[in-house]
Amino acid sequence: MNDIAERFQHVRSQIRHAVSIAGRPRGSVQLLAVSKTKPAGDIATLYRLGQRHFAENYLQEALGKQRQLSAFNITWHFIGPIQSNKTKPIATHFAWVHSVDRLKIAQRLSEQRPAHLPPLNICLQVNISAEDSKSGVSLEDLPALVEEVRMLPNLRLRGVMAIPEAESNYAKQRQPYRRLCQAVKELNRPELDSYSFGMSGDLKAAIMEGATMVRIGTALFGERQYD
Ligand SMILES: *Cc1c(COP(=O)(O)O)cnc(C)c1O
Repeated sequence: MNDIAERFQHVRSQIRHAVSIAGRPRGSVQLLAVSKTKPAGDIATLYRLGQRHFAENYLQEALGKQRQLSAFNITWHFIGPIQSNKTKPIATHFAWVHSVDRLKIAQRLSEQRPAHLPPLNICLQVNISAEDSKSGVSLEDLPALVEEVRMLPNLRLRGVMAIPEAESNYAKQRQPYRRLCQAVKELNRPELDSYSFGMSGDLKAAIMEGATMVRIGTALFGERQYD
């Protein structure tokens, strides 16, 4: 399987299958195509097959592809680490940001969101594997951050994003997502309707635990040469 069209069909059928065995409604999981390091031509190929949501990690690279693809009606998601001096272009050129993990970044995104655009959709990145090296707010600090971010005028807080430690065991893949989903439900904020969970290696576990958006790179575009 080395062509984008075949991979796309395969990923979509994996999603449909997981949604069905999870007993969840059809269409309740959205596919985000993670196109980092891949050329604009690959994005165009997938777009022509019907894909509309694309996610990028590196700002300069993303802006370049956005310029090349400006004729396409793409919804762009930013999923990479955010430095505070990069918030303005992120607030300007994306519809969703999944990697907000501190108030200062959220405040800057809100201040810098252009007035003519709708509120910027935000997921808070949560560190559920408790690894020091990974970014993300701790589960413990999540409720306070939710309360602060939801008050910012030009943002729309939608939910959470997580990147658990890589794990090949299916049951173990599910655990961190279950814990985070439970923690979010306990906040009793029905507007938090988005769970950005799951990558190529744990898509099924993520969907079983409530993912509403899966972020898929390798399984769609093939292995990356660099990261
Ligand atoms: C690269 C990346 C992905 C996609 O990973 P694959 O394993 O290639 O599917 C998803 N989410 C984030 C945050 C990433 O950086």
